[in-house]
Amino acid sequence: MLLWMVVWTSRATLEKRSRGGVIPRCGQESRSRGSLVEQALWQDCMCRLRGRLTAPEIGCWLQAIHPIEVRGRRLHAEVPSRMHLEQIRARLSDAISAVLGEILGDGAELVLTVNRERAERAPQAPPSVPHAAVPLSPYRFETFLVGDSNALAHAAAREVVARPGAAHNPLFLYGGVGLGKTHLATAVADAIGRGSRRRVAALSAEAFANDLIRALLTGGIDGFRARLRQIDVLIVDDIQFLAGKERMQEEFFHTFNALHSMGKQIVLASDQAPRSISGLEQRLQSRFEAGLTAEITAPDCSLRFAILGHKAKAIGFELPIEVAQWVAGKIVTSVRELEGALHRLVAACRWSERALDLGFAKEVLRPILRSAPPRTLEQVQRIVAESFHVTPGELVRHGRVSRLRVPRQVAMYLARKAMGATYAEIAAGFGGRDHSTVMHAVKRVEERRGEDPEFATLVDRLSEKLASA
Ligand code: ADP
Ligand code: MG
Repeated sequence: MLLWMVVWTSRATLEKRSRGGVIPRCGQESRSRGSLVEQALWQDCMCRLRGRLTAPEIGCWLQAIHPIEVRGRRLHAEVPSRMHLEQIRARLSDAISAVLGEILGDGAELVLTVNRERAERAPQAPPSVPHAAVPLSPYRFETFLVGDSNALAHAAAREVVARPGAAHNPLFLYGGVGLGKTHLATAVADAIGRGSRRRVAALSAEAFANDLIRALLTGGIDGFRARLRQIDVLIVDDIQFLAGKERMQEEFFHTFNALHSMGKQIVLASDQAPRSISGLEQRLQSRFEAGLTAEITAPDCSLRFAILGHKAKAIGFELPIEVAQWVAGKIVTSVRELEGALHRLVAACRWSERALDLGFAKEVLRPILRSAPPRTLEQVQRIVAESFHVTPGELVRHGRVSRLRVPRQVAMYLARKAMGATYAEIAAGFGGRDHSTVMHAVKRVEERRGEDPEFATLVDRLSEKLASA
């Protein structure tokens, strides 16, 4: 639920509220803009909302919300005018309620207050040029932690920054939700933008589509094309959004070719490899694969632990090591979920004024862990075996029985993708095989997913089954 209040700059009231507890307090000045905790929480919300709102909703309304304070399960925030308040209420309330609930728990609320001092800084109008459509968030290389799961993608992104247009073109980043694709793609945009005079355009595929529609409706298609072709570096996030949209793909194909033939750098991010995106034209698929495709997989435990520590430090939150270790062991599939857990812990400490220890952390995170996917290879093997009418023991046993080949490959694939196990862990868990066997199995399933929609559906169903197990 959202609470809506029109209170003309009730800063004094906000300053009076004392919270205490285990969270280091920020200075007055930064608290009036929302402390690092509030800002991090709100950034998390914005990330989650990005796929659920349109570009104008984000540009005009969402970005006008300034987080001030978390109290209990309420996030207090300010907007620059009553119009903002009403528009946000009419357009965004359901989506915001849903993501706040995901982070702070059931019954979370956003309480909005009008503060006219914010009017000068408020976004004014929907963006009119494609490259300004949806700025990706300010993620940088400096805040991106590297481990086995993202090393190739990170190295490739660095090379792209060092030699735009010459290293890997296009660079195609792909992987599951919340694993750092947007962060890395944005870091490329940021680093090239800061280090040179190149014109960098970073936008989501949805923003591209919206701008294209607007241009088609208003007869501005030539201007749209001309603007895009002036760009030196084009970064398009969530390119899978174009799947099944022929007109968008047609236009993107020409944009891609025009830029690529001029040696301009293109970076794309997607939740799946090009050949696994069903509804993506063959010609785009082959263009996307022509440079380097780099997968980001689920982080291993040490990277999860490091990221948690890093994120906690960034917001000035003291996260006990045993809690960080426990959380890193429990939340295995996405960095975004790790961040969500951290924000939930921070908020809980605030409202309860309890010091954070392992017992309290377990209590606070219990609701989100209930739906966490299984973490053992045995669970993956059992679910896959059941579905293929074989036994878990057969999946693990050595031998070349042909009826076991596909189920074994699928189980290895899901262990890698759905539970984030490393190749070495999977190899050990499948009877001590060589880890190149696991890599081959994962690749084979990926290829077949792209070629065989029925197989892709079967694998997706199993993945969902694992997630809800
Ligand atoms: P995706 O685009 O893959 O869905 P994002 O790039 O939005 O995921 O990442 C989700 C959150 O996780 C972001 O807040 C991002 O900063 C964080 N994140 C992901 N990977 C890393 C990493 N390797 N180091 C630090 N933060 C990360
Ligand atoms: Mg993303």
